[in-house]
Amino acid sequence: MDISGIREVIKKIALLNAVSYCGKAQSKPVLGRLFSERPELRAIAREVVALVDEIVQEVNSMSLEEQRDFLKILWPEALARDKEKERIEEKSLPPLPNVEKYKRVVTRFAPNPDCVLHLGSARAIILCYEYAKMYNGRFILRFEDTDPRLKRSSIQFMDLIREDLEWLGCPPDEEYIQSDRVEIYYKYAEKLLEEGYAYVCTCKPGVFHKRVIVGEPCPCRDLPSEEHLHRWEAMLGGVYAEGEAVVRIKTDLKHPNPAIREWPALRIIDVRKHPHPRVGSKYRVWPLYNFACGIDDHLMGVTHIIRGKEHLTNQERQKYLYRYFGWEYPEAIHYGRLKIIGASLSKSKIVRGVREGLYAGWDDPRLATFLALRRRGIRPEAIRRLIIDIGPRPADITLSWENLYAYNRKIIDPIANRYFFVWRPMKLIVKGVRKDFAVSIPLHPNNPEKGMRTLYVKSEGGVGNLLITSQDAEKLSPGDIVRLMELFNVKIESVEKHQVISSFHSESYNEAKRLNASLIHWLPEDGGVPCSVVMPDNSIVSGLAEVSIKSVSADEIIQFERFGFARVDSVGEKIVAFFAHR
Ligand SMILES: [Zn+2]
Repeated sequence: MDISGIREVIKKIALLNAVSYCGKAQSKPVLGRLFSERPELRAIAREVVALVDEIVQEVNSMSLEEQRDFLKILWPEALARDKEKERIEEKSLPPLPNVEKYKRVVTRFAPNPDCVLHLGSARAIILCYEYAKMYNGRFILRFEDTDPRLKRSSIQFMDLIREDLEWLGCPPDEEYIQSDRVEIYYKYAEKLLEEGYAYVCTCKPGVFHKRVIVGEPCPCRDLPSEEHLHRWEAMLGGVYAEGEAVVRIKTDLKHPNPAIREWPALRIIDVRKHPHPRVGSKYRVWPLYNFACGIDDHLMGVTHIIRGKEHLTNQERQKYLYRYFGWEYPEAIHYGRLKIIGASLSKSKIVRGVREGLYAGWDDPRLATFLALRRRGIRPEAIRRLIIDIGPRPADITLSWENLYAYNRKIIDPIANRYFFVWRPMKLIVKGVRKDFAVSIPLHPNNPEKGMRTLYVKSEGGVGNLLITSQDAEKLSPGDIVRLMELFNVKIESVEKHQVISSFHSESYNEAKRLNASLIHWLPEDGGVPCSVVMPDNSIVSGLAEVSIKSVSADEIIQFERFGFARVDSVGEKIVAFFAHR
């Protein structure tokens, strides 16, 4: 039995049940509806009941507003009542805490430039940017490039990240690069060593961990600070090799979370083997994430840190620094996990795939990078609206691509011009065509001011020669009446391997409606422009598009009728487009 997606189905039913009953869902009606939608689940009723109870509990722990938001994001079609829809349209972000404590709000987005950005970063960027804007504050971009060995950054990625932020409509007010700030981190490290809040540990990692796991200090910890300053000089001077010495921050040795105890702040990297892409082998001692980040947030005046809840442990680590320096820790907002079904968000996999040629580039349509989304015609406003609707809430959320497409459709549907595209074309012969036809169709059904496109069908000795897609042709049988959109109705006579033969039936649309004829699109046989559409799985669908498509320009988003939305990538002898969604 296919029970994939069952959790999502239950969640949807539970949310719908909850919003109809003042925010409290009940297991029984949820179960009833589930079994009527998916009767096959009765066979595993016991497991299903437990799962329903669990999800109902999860849904009931949300506020009514939050339940409505989730429905709006995940299943907009479920909110059938228009009033309900209207009420929750165009949401704005909830206020930030303790804004009045600060002169002005400062937020930051701090990527490691070891890959291009992808959808997984959208929440951090958009929330930080929007909150800074909302309070007339400042939004900082900080490149965290202090690991030349494992998370190797590159100057190319910095440029691409800057471009991504511009495209998303989130340009930073200030920019910093941590590899420019190494001396600053040294200064603060020395201060901590002097005051006995940090020490240089030269234990073998195994020895250190054995001690710390039982809450015991390693032999280095309690040596006088003079010794540690001496070891620090030796670290900087090249006496120790990579892995032989590390600066650790003193914490509570009995901290309930062993991962927080005595966390490492700076370490040695063999920069002859792993030169830094910006500063080469200038520094051999490099700060680790928590040290550089903690110090920078303070020095840059960050007032509100907005990040995923996977950083909660890092916050605990960094709070030791703030205590030792007598600084006040900024407000921290930790949002829940956001999963996107079917999107690979592993930076290392993306980098490896591109380097090994598995992907065509950073904008390969199979990737969830902003570059790929942009190439496919996903608008930054769609991402922005989706993220604002999700907001900084702590609850985890799982999205499908379709959720993002629904936001994008709302934006592009009113502007995308319509064209006929006959993919995998097949000839359609229409007998009994007594005159030439010229049909004018609006470029956009709801915006007549966008103009018209015209298609011509010639009568050649009483015959019209057209093209239709093989996909439609395969479904036809002799005797069927079919309406060729905006043209006329034909009666199918025979369906052969390479062509379909039909005869003229009638002209009026009402007649087609009365006969319940299916509507298919078409092109005149001699009037098409070669066109290839690159699909999200990187496959290519080829065919012919109507001649008027020659007037589109690259980057324009169009809709191929009965096929879907696409972004025109290049215009020439041939049109190349990237598929967005249906
Ligand atoms: Zn030690």
